[in-house]
Amino acid sequence: MPEPVLLPHPVTGAPFASPVEPGTGWPDDLASADTPVARTPAQVGRLAQGAVGQDELDARISVCRACPRLVGWREEVATTKRAAFADQPYWGRPVPALGPPDAPVVIVGLAPAAHGANRTGRNFTGDRSGDWLYGALHRAGYANQPESWAAGDGLTLEGVRIIAPVRCAPPQNKPTTTEKRTCAPWLDADLARSAPVVRSIMCLGSIGWDATIAGVRHAGWEVPRPKPRFGHGARAVLRTPEGREVALVGCYHVSQQNTFTGKLTEAMLDEIIASL
Ligand code: SF4
Repeated sequence: MPEPVLLPHPVTGAPFASPVEPGTGWPDDLASADTPVARTPAQVGRLAQGAVGQDELDARISVCRACPRLVGWREEVATTKRAAFADQPYWGRPVPALGPPDAPVVIVGLAPAAHGANRTGRNFTGDRSGDWLYGALHRAGYANQPESWAAGDGLTLEGVRIIAPVRCAPPQNKPTTTEKRTCAPWLDADLARSAPVVRSIMCLGSIGWDATIAGVRHAGWEVPRPKPRFGHGARAVLRTPEGREVALVGCYHVSQQNTFTGKLTEAMLDEIIASL
């Protein structure tokens, strides 16, 4: 076996292989060499349900290998890299949620970007989508800074948690139905932790919308019938098993496709975030 190429982390300067080995010191990496690895859909369900505490859940997510196509893709991208980031290590692993688990606002996205979160190991970090989202969260007082360029860059969130319903970067940003289903127990476990405190769930695009509805139904929440349809500004009232109301809010995804074309403007994004 050839020796892995080690490159310096852009913040700490410490050397890392691509993909990053668990427990080697990457900022905010909660996993270790002993963290149990899910290799099948059944193991995802078992490890998600059995995780004690948020840190254990996040650690288990970050080493999951249950979707062969996505594992192959995320690691291939991490090895080959984009030319602009050829001097950086790539995370190349699943990306856990970001933000405090007791946040009253939850944002559900789609999946890590190949050269964004798949490189940095943090949701919406290191690409233009993140510039848009964290810029808006900073304007609204949820983020301490508008930039999010690398794990360890000083970003902290208050009152908001960001979750990807599919934790690995998919080719063309298109996970298969099977991959979405396989990853769902991780989202279910995250939503279960948010359930006692969440006030609003903002979904960036229809995949996050559908995954959230499926997740909360699975957890016994009341969802209006017929099923609410996704749209920018769409709203529905969900009810937890305890009878508490939670707002489900749709927003166009902050993808470059939407922001470059003006389909989503800063004003539109700010308006939705202000309503959460
Ligand atoms: Fe595991 Fe989800 Fe990644 Fe599939 S997409 S390998 S279930 S973390």
